[in-house]
Order: sequence, then C-alpha cells, then structure tokens
Amino acid sequence: MQEQTPKDPYLLTPGPLTTSMQTKEAMLRDWGSWDGDFKAMTATLRSELIAMIGPNCQEYDCVPMQGSGTFAVEAMLGSFITKNSKTLVLCNGAYGKRIVEILDYIQRPYVLIDKGDFLPPSVEEVEDALDQDPSIENIVIVHCETSSGILNPIEEIAEIAHQRGKKYLIDSMSSFGAVQLDCAALHCEAIVSSANKCIEGVPGFGFIIARKQALEQAKDNSHSLSLDVYAQWHHMNKTGQWRFTPPTHVVAAFLQALRQHRMEGGVQGRYHRYQQNRDRLVAGMRLLGFETLLDKRWLSPIIVTFFQPEDSNFKFTSFYDCLKKKGFIIYPGKLTDVDSFRIGCIGHIDTNVIDQLLDVVKDTLAGMRVNTTKPPLKALEERSKLQH
Ligand SMILES: *Cc1c(COP(=O)(O)O)cnc(C)c1O
Repeated sequence: MQEQTPKDPYLLTPGPLTTSMQTKEAMLRDWGSWDGDFKAMTATLRSELIAMIGPNCQEYDCVPMQGSGTFAVEAMLGSFITKNSKTLVLCNGAYGKRIVEILDYIQRPYVLIDKGDFLPPSVEEVEDALDQDPSIENIVIVHCETSSGILNPIEEIAEIAHQRGKKYLIDSMSSFGAVQLDCAALHCEAIVSSANKCIEGVPGFGFIIARKQALEQAKDNSHSLSLDVYAQWHHMNKTGQWRFTPPTHVVAAFLQALRQHRMEGGVQGRYHRYQQNRDRLVAGMRLLGFETLLDKRWLSPIIVTFFQPEDSNFKFTSFYDCLKKKGFIIYPGKLTDVDSFRIGCIGHIDTNVIDQLLDVVKDTLAGMRVNTTKPPLKALEERSKLQH
C-alpha cells in the first residue's frame, strides 16, 4: 500500500475511496470511444463482472451505464419495473429512501416497509406485506445499507421472493466485489453497483447485471432515454460501443482495478482484506472505549458506524479536522436520533493503515481532552432495538 499524505489523504469513505497508484496511472492516456482497443476494454469489463456473480452466470449479462451509482439504480428500476406494476421497497436507511424517491420521480407505484435508521426487515413483515397486497410484483432491497453499514438479509428475502414469484432487484452498490453474491441462487432479476466501490476504481459509471430474459423484456419500458438499460445493452451487443460518450479514462482505471481484484483472489480475497480491516478497526476503537451501532451479526466489512462520545469536549467537526490534518478522511454519521460517525473499511488500504488511524484517533482524543468515549445512554438504548 502506498503512503498517503495530508495533501493526499486516505479516504476512509465508502466511495469515492482510496485507489492504488497503478489505477490512477492507468488514466494517463486518451482513448477513442469508437476504437477497437476501447471496445475490447468494454467487452473485458463486462465479462469479468459477470464472472463475479457465481457459478451459473451464463443467464446474466452486464450493462455498464455512465454516471454515478444512483444513475444506474434509476436505470435499473426504470427498465425492469414495468410501468404499472407495484413494488415492495425494503428500506432501512438513506439508500432505501433514495429508491423510494426514484420510484416517486418515475411514477411507479410502491408499498414501503420503512424500518428507520438501521433495523433489518424481517421475513414475517415481508410475507405480511405480500399477503396484504397480492398485486405486488417486485421487491427491491439494498444489500449493504451504507448509511449504517448493516448487511441486510438478502438471502432470506430472496427465498420469499422466489416462492411467491416476485421479481427481486438488489442495490448491491457498496458490497459487490467484496461480499459474495450468487445471482442465480438468489433468483434475482437484476443487481446494480458502480466503479468506485469495492472494485476500487474511480467514479464515473455504474453497471447493471441482469437476467438476459429480463433485458429482452425491458424493451421500451424505460422512462428515460439516457438511462434505458435495454437500449444500452442492445447497442453495446450490436456495435461494441456505449450509446453515448463513455468515461474512457474511468474504464481504463477500472480495468486496472479489476486486474488487482483478480490478483488479490477475487471476491474472496477482497472480502478477507476488508474483513481484517474491519476487525482491526472495531477492536482498536473498542479498546479506546468507542461503541459500534451494530453487533457482529450485522456488521458489514464495508463501513462501520460508531457512536460519538457523550463527553462535551468531543466535537465531531474538530475531530474530523484533526484526522484530516493527519491524512485520514472519515464520514459523518446518518442516524436520526443519536450522534454518530462512520469509518470505511474499503479501498486500497490494509491493517497497517488502520493501525496508523487508531494512533491518530488516540492522539486526537487526548488533544481534545476527551476523558471518556462512552456514548450516551440513548445510543445504547437505540442499539438494543436490534434483535439477534
Ligand atoms: C454509493 C451507493 C449508491 C450510489 O451513490 P452515488 O453517490 O450515486 O454513487 C447507491 N446505493 C448504495 C447502497 C451506495 O452505497
């Protein structure tokens, strides 16, 4: 892992994140989008991503889409949810809410199970919702809800979706490439992720991996010209090109990031490193007295939410600024009722980086004269809502 400096800090954020020097260097030339070399790069990118979704991947195809991850989520929802069909949205954080917002925008009817800031949806609740409204045809869930870091129970929900014949769509943005996802076993219609999460590329495109049959059926369904997954797929298969200007440099960087992903041992290798990062981070922070929002069963190897200390000397903005000065960018929390902050485990970082961070956190707390890092009682009450 290369050294980062205060001028060029480690991004302990869930994308954009810290990328390797080779990935950055891969962007130092220009490509013509129509040229054979770039077409070959696009083809490689698609086939390598499909190979990550488990053994029975031949039923699926990959469609890259320009824009940030949200563009790809919107493209997926607008393309695979038919115009008048009803969707059950399972929401427990900001990214679930964003799915709801997209459905409002594109005027697709939905039913919502909103669990608040972090609680996972239960199988019983989902069954009840489906019993109450048999007209529901689609279920949408977020795999790792990045706003808390919870890893949602996508396997359990997949079983119900399959039993009841519902289309199952997953926002696997922040977990894809690091947490194994077997699309065929989950019987899912489509999943979505982006370049700047666990594959460790730079931002600029997302991708949808969908059943080929679903892609065929998506013809003329999208609400949008530029976000039409079928049209992009069809054009790409026919010409090898993206429909509109592709982010050429981002694709080049992504191919280098994919090479490193492969060299690290693919999804399993990446999972292993991120898990080590998380374990070191959580253990070190607990030693400093911090408490996590989630316990082991729900903690993802992607990002961890910590409660802010109750001590009045602790001010998040000064904490943040001190860490930044020492070369680490962390992330504010997103809980409604209690103050928190988040630290990402993903990106081109290892446990040495986590150890450096822990030293800096310790010094910073001393500098701020924080005597105790214990969270307020309210925080622990909040956490106790989580069943095992
Ligand atoms: C990052 C992320 C997105 C996409 O966010 P963008 O800012 O549009 O890239 C969507 N869902 C989840 C779960 C994410 O982590």
